[in-house]
Amino acid sequence: MRYIASCSCGKDSLAMVYKIIEQQLPLNEIVFYDTGMEFQSIYNNWKQLTEYAQRFGIKCTTLHPKCPFLYTMFEQPHCSRKDGIVRYGYSWCGGYCRWGTNEKLKAIDKYCEQQEAICYVGIAADEPQRLEKEHKTYKRYPLVEWNMSEVDSLQYCRKHNISWIEKCRAKLEGRFFIDLYTILDRVSCWCCANKNHWELYNYWKYLPDYWEKLKEIQRKTQRPFNKYTIFEMEEKFDNGYIPRHRTKLKRKQ
Ligand code: SF4
Repeated sequence: MRYIASCSCGKDSLAMVYKIIEQQLPLNEIVFYDTGMEFQSIYNNWKQLTEYAQRFGIKCTTLHPKCPFLYTMFEQPHCSRKDGIVRYGYSWCGGYCRWGTNEKLKAIDKYCEQQEAICYVGIAADEPQRLEKEHKTYKRYPLVEWNMSEVDSLQYCRKHNISWIEKCRAKLEGRFFIDLYTILDRVSCWCCANKNHWELYNYWKYLPDYWEKLKEIQRKTQRPFNKYTIFEMEEKFDNGYIPRHRTKLKRKQ
């Protein structure tokens, strides 16, 4: 039997993979799906993991979307029988329209199914709503078996010197680098429309390069990022709006 771990290089899946190796559980391959829109620190962590995994003879594979993410976002034609091309692209990914996630999950499932492999998935013990959606019998959830919560996963990563370091706005607080898990609840694609106001505020404050990239995307679409466009959010932040932060991860850190 072949064993494959799906790893997004966020805290949960990284903790899962490193602990699987530490506990010498069966593992033949680690699969990372690169949307093309990952933070630089995610790519850095994937590189670090592949170097580490090589020592144990574990294969590392990067999967990619069929089309570039920005093409699917803005250029892919959508047709109706009656009217021909009705629009181009899906616009922002996230919220009720998580087209990138759907494609990612399908690609990873297909990859594991083709090899008839057992697939390890990094869902934490305190994410029952995610677990409820999983029905495939070849999937295993080691974090649930170890009763590791999201906070436990982050702490495990911290203890093992795994971080998500990005260049930060130098003039603020005299910091040049920042760990994404101190300013974001979830480290997913940098353009993910699931980001809440507190996370967006931290982009604006600490990650000006990514903030500019969000503005570039917003220029190409009429659809607001969430309730507001990125430009409306920028105006709010410029005028002193500081969103409140509500998340179990932050509270327990
Ligand atoms: S993390 Fe967000 S932007 Fe990336 S694929 Fe998932 S829903 Fe889409």
